[in-house]
Amino acid sequence: MDGHVTGPRVLLKHLRDAMAEPLGPQERLNRIVQQIAVAMTAQVCSVYVLRDDDVLELFATFGLNPTAVHMSQLKVGRGLVGTIAAMRRPLNLPDAQQHPAFAYLPETGEEIYKSFLGVPMTRAGRSLGVLVVQTRESRRFGTEEVEALETAAMVLSDLVATGELKGLSQQGTDLVQTRPIMLNGLRLSPGIGIGRVVLHEPRVVVENLIAEDSDTELQRLAVAIRKMRRSVDAMLENRDMGGEGDHVDVLESYRMFAHDRGWVKRIEAAIAQGLTAEAATQKVSQDNRRRLVRSGDSYLRERLTDFDDLTRRLMKELMGEAQPSLDEEGDFIVVARDMGAAELLDYSRPGLRGVVLEEATATSHVAIVARALGLAVVGKVEGAVARCEMGNTIIADGDSGCVHIRPPDELLSSYDERIALREQRQARYIAARHEPSVTRDGTPIELLVNAGLAMDLPQIEATGAAGVGLFRTELQFMVSSSMPRVDAQAKFYRSILDAANGKPVTFRTLDIGGDKLLPYLRMSKEDNPALGWRAIRLAIDRPGLIRVQLRALLKAAAGEVLRVKLPMITDVSEVAQVRTLLNREIEARRKLGHDMPSTVHLGAMIEVPSLLWQLDELMQSVDFASVGSNDLFQFMAASDRTNSYLANRFNPLSRPFMRALREIARAADRNQTHLQICGEMAGEPIAAMALMGIGYRAVSMSPVAIGPVKEMVRMVDLSDLSQTVNRLVDEKGAAQTLTEALTDYADQHGVPI
Ligand code: PEP
Ligand code: MG
Repeated sequence: MDGHVTGPRVLLKHLRDAMAEPLGPQERLNRIVQQIAVAMTAQVCSVYVLRDDDVLELFATFGLNPTAVHMSQLKVGRGLVGTIAAMRRPLNLPDAQQHPAFAYLPETGEEIYKSFLGVPMTRAGRSLGVLVVQTRESRRFGTEEVEALETAAMVLSDLVATGELKGLSQQGTDLVQTRPIMLNGLRLSPGIGIGRVVLHEPRVVVENLIAEDSDTELQRLAVAIRKMRRSVDAMLENRDMGGEGDHVDVLESYRMFAHDRGWVKRIEAAIAQGLTAEAATQKVSQDNRRRLVRSGDSYLRERLTDFDDLTRRLMKELMGEAQPSLDEEGDFIVVARDMGAAELLDYSRPGLRGVVLEEATATSHVAIVARALGLAVVGKVEGAVARCEMGNTIIADGDSGCVHIRPPDELLSSYDERIALREQRQARYIAARHEPSVTRDGTPIELLVNAGLAMDLPQIEATGAAGVGLFRTELQFMVSSSMPRVDAQAKFYRSILDAANGKPVTFRTLDIGGDKLLPYLRMSKEDNPALGWRAIRLAIDRPGLIRVQLRALLKAAAGEVLRVKLPMITDVSEVAQVRTLLNREIEARRKLGHDMPSTVHLGAMIEVPSLLWQLDELMQSVDFASVGSNDLFQFMAASDRTNSYLANRFNPLSRPFMRALREIARAADRNQTHLQICGEMAGEPIAAMALMGIGYRAVSMSPVAIGPVKEMVRMVDLSDLSQTVNRLVDEKGAAQTLTEALTDYADQHGVPI
C-alpha cells in the first residue's frame, strides 16, 4: 500500500516550505497538517500537543471538525492518542474502532474514518504530543508511510520544544517543554549561575532537520563517519586489547558497531527521504533504541549504551561546525547526564557560569574541578537533560541545590537580588582576606586550598589562604594528550611554586585509576576500580612513573622546601618503599651536582581504613600526615563516593566517622607529627568547626570555601567548642544528629556556618 504516499521526500520539501513561510504559529500548524494529509493521501491529519496537566489537546486538524480544535482533549493513557503518548510507540490500525482503547470524541466527527495511524512526538525520550492520519477506507499503512509520518513528527516536536506553539492553548495551560520548571538536586558547588543552556550531548534543531540537497548530506555523512571511525579505532588502540576476557569482546563489539554497514545504510536511507545527515542519524538512533529495547536479546539491549555513545560521537562530528560558538554568546550553563573532569575543562571559558548534572556527587572529580573553576554546580538533577532545550534560560542555584529551567521574569529578578547579596558577602570575604585565621581564644587555624591546575593558583592571593594543602598532580596529566615528560613536569611544578610566591605547596603524587583515567595510559578494565590497581599501588608496581615524577619535583623545588604526599597508602611499608625510591633520586641528583631542595618532607594520605590500626607506626614513618576524608569515608561507610543514590544517605559529619578522625588527630599529637585534612568536608564551615573541636589545626579546601570558613574560625572560642564537640561525639543513643546539635551550638554562640 506504499503507493498511497507521494513520497516522504516531497512531504519534507513541503514541510520545509511551510516552516520558512512568514506565518503565525496556528496558521503554520494548519498548513503543516494539510500538507501531511495531502502527501499521505489521507482524509485527516491531526496534531495533539501534550500540556502541562498531562492532557493532550487537539492543536490543529485537517479533515476533522475545525470547531474541535483546542476543545478536544484526552488524558495521557486514554483513547488511541493517549495510548500512543503513554507508550511512545506508533499505532497502525486498519479499523480504529475495533481497538479496545478507542475513545469516541463526538465533537470531532471522526466516526466515519476507519484506518488510523498515529505516531508519538518525542524529545529525548519524553512525549510531547501525537501526530495522526486517518482514512475513510480500511487499510494498514506501509512501512515507508509510517517512517514519513515519524519524520514529520520530528519536525513538529521541534516546533513544540522551541516554544513556537506556546500560548496557543485556549485552556491557558502551559505546554510540556516550554513551561518554567524547577528541579531539585544536590548542592555540589556554591554560587548562582544564570545563562543559556548548552547541552553536552547535542540535539538536532529545526534549522538543520530538513536537507536542501541530499547529495551534500550524504557527503557530510561520509566524512563524519570516517572521522568517527578513526577516533574510535585510535581510542581502542590506546586500551589494553591484549589478553582475553569479556572486556576484549565488549571493545571489539564497539568497533564492530562503529564499522557496521547496516547502520550507515539506514542513515543513508533516511537522508534519501529528505533529512539532513544529523536528523537522519537522530532518527535511526531513535528507531534502533526502540527496536533494541523491545528485542528479547539481552546482549543487544546491553549494547544500547555503545550505540548511544557512537551516535553521540557521530553527531558531534556532524554538528561540530553548527554548534553555537561558546565564545561569543554570553553566559552559559552546561547541562549533562554526567561528564568527566577533562570534558568539563573543554568548556572552560569566560562565559561558563555553572553545570547541571543528572549524576555526580560532591566528591566526584567533575564536581571538584567545577569548584576549582568557581562554577555553581547542581548534581543529581533527574530528568534535567530531557527537560532542557539548547538556548533555554536556566538558573543553576548551587547554594540551595535547585535548577530553574525557563524561569519567569519575576524569578529572574529575585535572583538578581540574591546575586547582589552574594556579591556583598564575597566583598566581605575579600576584605577579610588579610585578617588572621585565629580563633577568639587565640589558636591559629591554617586554612589551605586544594588545587590541581595552574589557573587555581591566583586563588591563594585572592582568598588569603596560607598555601596549597593538596595539589592534585593527576589533573595536569588528565588534560594532556600524552604523558608529560620530566622537563615538562618540572617546569609545570616550578610555575606552581612561583605562583604560590613562597607559601607552602604540598604536591600529591599521581592518584590515577578509580574514576581518574589517563587517555594515553593502557589500563585494563577492572570490576571495582576504586578498590583496584590505583594510586600508590600502581606507582610501586610500575615505579617508572613515580620516579619521573619525583625527579621532576626535586628539580622544580631546588633551593626550597619540597612537600610530597602519597595517595591511598594501605600499609606503612608502602611509605618506606617510596622513601627508598625518593632517596635514590636524591642521591642521583646529588651525584650529578644538581641543586637540591633545602628539605624534603614526605607525607602520607590517610584514606584507607587499615591505617587506623597502624597510626603510631605511620606517624613515626612520615614527616606529615594528611587525611583524605573523601576516600576514607567512602571506604569506612562502604558507600561509593560517585554514586548519587547514596549522596543523602551517609554523612561524614557523623559520630562514628568523627570518632575515627579524632583517633587520627590524637595519634598525630602523641607523635608530634604535623596533620592536616583535605577532603571536601573541610570546606563546609559546620564540618570544619567540628574538625577543629576534635583537634585539627590545618584544613585544606576548595578556594570558594576559605572566606566562609575563616568567618567561622574567627567567631569560635576553641576551648569551649572542643569540650562541646568531644562530648557530642561521645554521646550514645543521642536524640539529635551531630549536625543538628552543632547547628544549635553555632546558633547559640553566633558562629556563622
Ligand atoms: C580524598 O580522598 O579526600 C582526597 C582529598 O583525594 P581525592 O578527592 O583526590 O581522591
Ligand atoms: Mg582520595
